[in-house]
Amino acid sequence: MARCIFCMTKTGPFSTREHVLPESLGGGEWAVLPNGLLCDSCQNKFGSEIEQQALGDYPFSLLRTFLGIPTKKGKAPWFESWEGIIRASLLPGTVGYDPAPVFEQAVLEGKKTVIRVLAHPLKPDMICRFLLKMGVEVVAWDNEQDVFCSKFDEARRFALTGEKTGKWWYLQRERMDVVSRCFTQGITPDEWANNVKLEVAKLEGEHEMFHLSLLYLDMLVPLTRVITPQVEGLEEPEYRLFWI
Ligand SMILES: [Zn+2]
Repeated sequence: MARCIFCMTKTGPFSTREHVLPESLGGGEWAVLPNGLLCDSCQNKFGSEIEQQALGDYPFSLLRTFLGIPTKKGKAPWFESWEGIIRASLLPGTVGYDPAPVFEQAVLEGKKTVIRVLAHPLKPDMICRFLLKMGVEVVAWDNEQDVFCSKFDEARRFALTGEKTGKWWYLQRERMDVVSRCFTQGITPDEWANNVKLEVAKLEGEHEMFHLSLLYLDMLVPLTRVITPQVEGLEEPEYRLFWI
């Protein structure tokens, strides 16, 4: 029987196809959630509000642009910063750059040769909600009954509505040596596809944690809010903890 894993509606409608990992992060047919688990209204809300903002924010915007992961419509990804617009290019080791008006002259005259890009999310709450959305969907993937367990209620509510009763967090790890190699040498679609992983780990005390792994990037978010982060020995900038 159909039932939405976020708003719990049983009446739907359930007519859309949901990619647990968005197509613009390489989610293909394998990433489609079985029918009847996500209603059209929730899918639309996630797609238009949360995913869009998360995918346009660090770290996903940088990842997509520097590695040249095409958008859902097959276009080259780009992002905007105060420096101007940075675009993916087809040549490994290069990106396109349209300077912001204030820098145009300096770029033309060769006075500006360095571009600095902010490596920090502007909306970490959207990143966190996006991760929670994927995490709850992966729980449903693994077991269509378990996902309705009340221990996930906070996660599904925060993901869908942004409402929460306490702080949430996510942990990010970027392996910069891998980023540099992938950027300068380029990656093949196979290399990308073989290094994408979404999994939910069961921890002691019925707690569960979602792990998203994308080539050089790992992100971890608790699906049951009470888990406290264990970050001893995890040094910045490779590891970064974000509280929301
Ligand atoms: Zn729903």
